[in-house]
Amino acid sequence: MRQIDIFDTTLRDGEQSPGVALSPEEKLQIARQLAKLGVNVIEAGFPIASPGDFQAVKRIADEVRQVSICALARANTKDIERAWEAIAKGEDPRIHTFIATSPIHMQYKLQKSPEQVLEQAVAAVKLSKSKVSNIEFSAEDASRSDVDFLGRVFSAVIEAGATVLNIPDTVGYATPEEFAAFIKAIMERTKGVEKVKLSVHCHNDLGLAVANSLAAAQMGVHQLEGAINGIGERAGNAAVEELAMAIKTRRDQFQLETTINSKEISRTSKLVSRLTGMIVQPNKAIVGKNAFSHESGIHQDGVLKERSTYEIMSPDSIGADMDTIVLGKHSGRHAVRERLTELGLEIDESRLDEVFKEFKLLAERKKEVTTDDLFTLVDSQTNNGPQVTLEYLQVSSGTQIVPTSTLGLNYKDQRYEDAACGDGPVDAAYKAIDKILGIKHKLLHYALQAINEGEDSQGEVTVSVQFDGHTVGGRGVSPDIIESSVKAYLQAVNRAYERGWITFTL
Ligand SMILES: [Zn+2]
Repeated sequence: MRQIDIFDTTLRDGEQSPGVALSPEEKLQIARQLAKLGVNVIEAGFPIASPGDFQAVKRIADEVRQVSICALARANTKDIERAWEAIAKGEDPRIHTFIATSPIHMQYKLQKSPEQVLEQAVAAVKLSKSKVSNIEFSAEDASRSDVDFLGRVFSAVIEAGATVLNIPDTVGYATPEEFAAFIKAIMERTKGVEKVKLSVHCHNDLGLAVANSLAAAQMGVHQLEGAINGIGERAGNAAVEELAMAIKTRRDQFQLETTINSKEISRTSKLVSRLTGMIVQPNKAIVGKNAFSHESGIHQDGVLKERSTYEIMSPDSIGADMDTIVLGKHSGRHAVRERLTELGLEIDESRLDEVFKEFKLLAERKKEVTTDDLFTLVDSQTNNGPQVTLEYLQVSSGTQIVPTSTLGLNYKDQRYEDAACGDGPVDAAYKAIDKILGIKHKLLHYALQAINEGEDSQGEVTVSVQFDGHTVGGRGVSPDIIESSVKAYLQAVNRAYERGWITFTL
């Protein structure tokens, strides 16, 4: 059985999804989970893009082990120097440099001749080689490039020291058979191809990202790139969980294996969805909430008699069965700790104290505390201590009245209160906060989801807010959705304040 590498770009391409803004701590948390999932390479970010991106990549490289850490860089000196600075202390660090090779990109975007592009690619790989041996080169928009030219570029960068050659279908234009033939044609035209790994990076504009990736896998490529839940630019990337489960479930067909621990799939998917605010559609393959539900009587009857009648994979193979044990308000500290350990959430005593306190408060408000609730509690405890907190909240809204919100905030042990009207209760609450703190925001994205099944669920709100041109994300969880909305907004406010993007005039 041949092993194929999984290169995860959730934190780079995935983070480029519209409306997503992860903090460095959140990126680190996702990176740790990706390491547990067993991906071979984590593309941690694009260090030159901003100081925040740089910091996040550096922290991941410094702290996450047992997985190769990669940073993206355009084919120029500044980008490559910055990428290397971020990942130098990482495990098996990889510089990923790229330049577009399609006629349309070279002519309009780069305004360079093919010869200039080839020269720049070689120079970038040579510079990378002076720093590290693990170098990935991507020919952006490869699937719309001339195959003879691509063969020349690839042959030249192999000679310059590239060790992985990536063939992206940047705009999601390829179809499986055509893409497979294209890979074969590249192999035939690339001198030294046997010395390097080939990789593909497929986008999902026509819904073919996974199919194209698997077609390439059958042609013998060594690495598949993708993102958890298929997030990414526009329609997203190939979904890592779909690639992994297709390869595992249809081993007979692909004759391949990955190092993915499939039991971590469900947890990884939920974490990424929670932190990015990108909700997973219910009918999404593998990780959708309905992916293992059987609705029709005939199907249910079949599954009860023999699961394999309608199930090609079991829910527990992706770890979706973790939610069976629940805790309640009578559960003690010991029970909570035991459950956390079972879930692989190792936390120290002082953190446990905080989590247990929050657990008790939650159990008072909600009958059953589920696994997802516990994950959320631990997640929210990993954020830095907030400067502004909610003391109380009152809203009035209905069909014939103007929605109004009155709230009290605590800042440095002082209470500040005010009220405001709005288009709805959430808008009114946000306006009251702005009034109290003397700030102004633009709401870019708001998402609400229930974190578990049934009526007794907590509502989780994710927001992405802009303050004076800076985008920041926030997340809040509560059994009351207006309260979750306020908590999410306050988290964004506190983050913007920590970064010096806003000041308070109290
Ligand atoms: Zn991409």
